[in-house]
Amino acid sequence: MHWKILIGMGLGVMAGLLLANFSWAPSFVKDWIKPFGTMFINALKLIAVPLILTSLIKGVSDLKDLSHLSKMGFRTVFTFIATTVVAVSIGLVLVNIIKPGASISEATRVDLISSYESDASTNISKAVEQKETGPLQGLQEIIPDNIFGAAADNRNMLQVIFFALLVGVGLILIPKESARPVKEFFDGFNDVILKIIDLLMLTAPFGVFALLAALVIDAPGLDLFAALGMYAITVIAGLILMLVVYAILVYTFTGKNPAAFYKALAPAQLLAFSTSSSAATLPVTMERVTEHMGVPKEVASFVLPVGATINMDGTSLYQAVAAVFIAQAFGLDLSIGTQLGIIATATLASIGSAAVPGAGMVMLVIVLAQAGIPEAGLALIFGIDRPLDMCRTVVNVSGDAAVSNLVAKAIIPVTVPAVELEEVKL
Ligand code: ASP
Repeated sequence: MHWKILIGMGLGVMAGLLLANFSWAPSFVKDWIKPFGTMFINALKLIAVPLILTSLIKGVSDLKDLSHLSKMGFRTVFTFIATTVVAVSIGLVLVNIIKPGASISEATRVDLISSYESDASTNISKAVEQKETGPLQGLQEIIPDNIFGAAADNRNMLQVIFFALLVGVGLILIPKESARPVKEFFDGFNDVILKIIDLLMLTAPFGVFALLAALVIDAPGLDLFAALGMYAITVIAGLILMLVVYAILVYTFTGKNPAAFYKALAPAQLLAFSTSSSAATLPVTMERVTEHMGVPKEVASFVLPVGATINMDGTSLYQAVAAVFIAQAFGLDLSIGTQLGIIATATLASIGSAAVPGAGMVMLVIVLAQAGIPEAGLALIFGIDRPLDMCRTVVNVSGDAAVSNLVAKAIIPVTVPAVELEEVKL
């Protein structure tokens, strides 16, 4: 599967490069190619809510008792926060060693800021809206007042998760005879959704072709990459290190071969790269983790949707690098105290970032404000945010998959016999 997707991506890039030579290409691609990419992403997003509902209700109701749920919840959240803190720290160390901001000239800085000023200010105003909420707002929003309202917006994943958890818990607590038909319904429905994911994956090579062809046409010029090259290299080096961290964690805690882990995950990573959205990738991540890595459904159906919403290691790493890069470009010296503050704010900002393209940059504004770095600096990095967003989304998705393996290993003795996992070949 990952070869087919890779070929689709390669052909998409080539088609984009080829078409870029013609003046009519941008409108042709916008009218005739991009819509196929959008249709593909929409179809993936379409199944996210039903997938969470059915798989989580089934997963929770299969747990033997409620203590397993709290144990799983605690381990999941703890591991998510720990990996995020590691990611931010890696970003901070790299950006302080490489100092990408020092390599940017005064002229380039002024130039970039004036070209992207208005784009940046749109993001700043979005962030201001977000910031104007009270400290408990995030927690308060987890509990929806209407399930249809919650399910009507893909951004409300945590609300849907909350409802599914409640239904699952209810099913554990009622007599078995009353629970059985409800469980069977969700079981069957879950199988239908998984089949739909299989069908959708057949169209993935075409979907990514369209997405990448359209991205290449809209891509920033090479001169921008040259100006911001060191910054991009710092972010990408950090992201690669994070992938190494996951490999070590997966190997140390589950004994699984890291190469097999990444091979099994590859289709989800490629989709994360092409769509820049962990939420859109979620159905495929779920399929890879359960069917190709042997993570029990009751674990994956909890860890992955929660992870797609709150665990964004790639995003937090990028926010740390970007914040310090902007400070360096403006000639500001950040104290150790301020940098430690960035660890806290970037961790929280990544939790608050939506799993959609560009969300990490909106939340970056909050990190900048907290550290006293000029928000206008956002314009500096705006031009190459999309390619970096594609890369950080790969890490976001990989982090969720790695943690689901770790949590499965810790939870397995109480859910499914360990032999079952051994039998699953990677
Ligand atoms: N695009 C990222 C994601 O969906 C979020 C971000 O960093 O913008 O995971």
